Amino acid sequence: MKILVLNSGSSSIKFQFIDTDEQKAVAKGLAERIGIKGSKIKYQRPQEPEVHFEGDILDHQMAIEYILGILKSDKYGVVKDLSEINAVGHRVVHGGEKFKESALITDEVIKEIEETSDLAPLHNPANLKGIYAIKALLPDVPQVAVFDTAFHQTMPEHAYMYALPYSLYELYKIRRYGFHGTSHRYVSLKAAEFLGLEYAKQKIITCHLGNGASVAAIKNGNSIDTSMGLTPVEGLIMGTRTGDLDVGAFIHILEKEKISPQIGRVLINKHSGVLGISGISSDMREIEEAAGKGNHRAQLALDMYAYRVKKYIGAYTAAMNGLDILVFTGGIGENSDVMRKMICSELEYLGIEIDDSKNNGLRGKAQVISTDDSSVKVVVMPTNEELMIALDTEYIINK
Ligand code: AMP
Repeated sequence: MKILVLNSGSSSIKFQFIDTDEQKAVAKGLAERIGIKGSKIKYQRPQEPEVHFEGDILDHQMAIEYILGILKSDKYGVVKDLSEINAVGHRVVHGGEKFKESALITDEVIKEIEETSDLAPLHNPANLKGIYAIKALLPDVPQVAVFDTAFHQTMPEHAYMYALPYSLYELYKIRRYGFHGTSHRYVSLKAAEFLGLEYAKQKIITCHLGNGASVAAIKNGNSIDTSMGLTPVEGLIMGTRTGDLDVGAFIHILEKEKISPQIGRVLINKHSGVLGISGISSDMREIEEAAGKGNHRAQLALDMYAYRVKKYIGAYTAAMNGLDILVFTGGIGENSDVMRKMICSELEYLGIEIDDSKNNGLRGKAQVISTDDSSVKVVVMPTNEELMIALDTEYIINK
């Protein structure tokens, strides 16, 4: 099948046109600054240079109209006619408790995604704009929503509830949902396949370490816990997010600084994490470089980052009563041998032993990096959320 995968943000749309038989993108790109001065579309076919198209893009529908135009253009196109697009798969951030797997988009599903927007006010409305645009432009093409939260819907109640008055759950559905589900599912499946092991019988911890970061505990193919919660702030230290934080400390800061919850939200989402600790950057490459030159706060950011991941690995090994496979993915997990080594050091008692000759210098490639004797297999597995969305879209349509 030929599937257009869309990841619609508030002012951008990432897209890939994927051939699921080949499991490859035949074209990909990004429309950015939608509705803002200086809009453009970046576009690329494999093994060809990236091309840029500039011009006003007023809204998401206009952006998608341009994208479709490029996909069927004589010069850069990959289809002769838009009827070659078999389906469109959308990344949708929040599926609430309603969506436990991907869903064929109907009017009812759209209504349910709209209702869930309350839980993800920055993301779901943007994702919906892509869905409305395709409905208008390609009314006969089936659309599928693939949710970031769906994979974690198998979490047991004792893992997803917060110790707040129960009425808050009943009133507002305040609970832990988790995110990055498409990535955790993809890399855990791929890692088991890569090792030749039966997925449904493994205890797997996946560390998605990118600008946003989360860990998941996957037992017998089901996510039983994950580090992000109601929002993507909980859990690991991230580029600019705090991760786990004493809520008492947060309220104390609001009172001391006399700032509103809205500004507090910006503080914990945009000014904290690796950036906040180091004062240098949210980018792990720059932090590693500065730490290498002896910058104390950059080194502290690395130490705190690795320590937080290590604690989650310990916790999730306990939650699953053991561990078979540890997976690293995301920009940092795939590329930073330094961070992988820091996280895995002194975890020998759990059966985790890294082979430096396999880990050092490994970037962006699927590979086992544990020693032959390590009882836990440690694997680097590049994530591919777009491919997972395309495969899920195909699966739902064929169902
Ligand atoms: P992502 O959000 O998955 O694209 O990941 C972005 C993060 O990956 C940024 O913090 C980058 O600095 C980090 N990253 C990418 N390449 C490397 C590398 N070679 N070494 C360390 N961090 C890297």
